Amino acid sequence: MEKLRARAAALLAEGAVSLIIGYEEGTKRPRPLFCRNSESAQKLIFDSRCFHNLAVYLTRKDLVGKDRFAVTAPISTLRSILQLYVENQLSEEKLLVLTVDLNGELKEFVTFDEISAYVGQFELQRGEREQDILTKIEGMSREERWKFWMEEMSHCFKCYACRSACPLCYCSKCIVEVNRPQWINPWPAPLANMEWHINRAMHMVGRCTACGACGDACPVGIPIDLITRKMMEDLAPEFGYIPGLPAKKGNALSTWKLDDREQFIR
Ligand code: SF4
Ligand code: SF4
Repeated sequence: MEKLRARAAALLAEGAVSLIIGYEEGTKRPRPLFCRNSESAQKLIFDSRCFHNLAVYLTRKDLVGKDRFAVTAPISTLRSILQLYVENQLSEEKLLVLTVDLNGELKEFVTFDEISAYVGQFELQRGEREQDILTKIEGMSREERWKFWMEEMSHCFKCYACRSACPLCYCSKCIVEVNRPQWINPWPAPLANMEWHINRAMHMVGRCTACGACGDACPVGIPIDLITRKMMEDLAPEFGYIPGLPAKKGNALSTWKLDDREQFIR
């Protein structure tokens, strides 16, 4: 922790970055901290409780401005950063990434290749919660799955916290806010909720990095992250692509190969 604070303070004092987005103690759990000077860098913390995905702030132009900035990032956030790079939302010139590894050592990444090499050492695994719920869902028939999600979605009151927490939901105008024509009914109701969540899931195909931030943000406990996560898991063997892993351009639904199995591509 001290090494992180000292390095952050030095980066700000030297003018190497004008902002560091990290974590500080909150009232209930760690919360985001926007450091703009060496003094505020002394509030920085970084431990296993710091899982809020700070990559969500990296596309906020009002926040990051035009200067170089830094972010502290656990593995899940590093995956989101790689995916944002793949989607041309981040540039190496502007971003410095700091993390603390499992041995407590401070690491600094200047290039996306460095991040990719580091993240590649960690296999994306299901946690206990993901395993329990997904195993249950995978054992259901199509009709049972529809019933399961309809019941879950009936609790949704369309607060859009799931969207706000997701680093990959960065459109300046979301489809739910388009009203000429109105594609999705804005009020919460069983079918209107399903419309919103199916649309969101379709927008996340091949892009979700399974960080879990959307599910964590849902105030009524809908395991909403597992829809996009499962789509990512199913897509990976078909397309040979795991979002947030390879730091290369292109994503599953916007690229194709001549040797694709489906005839329609030729
Ligand atoms: S788990 Fe949720 S918040 Fe994280 S990338 Fe996927 S859709 Fe976005
Ligand atoms: S966070 Fe939960 S309640 Fe809010 S819109 Fe998303 S699924 Fe619905």
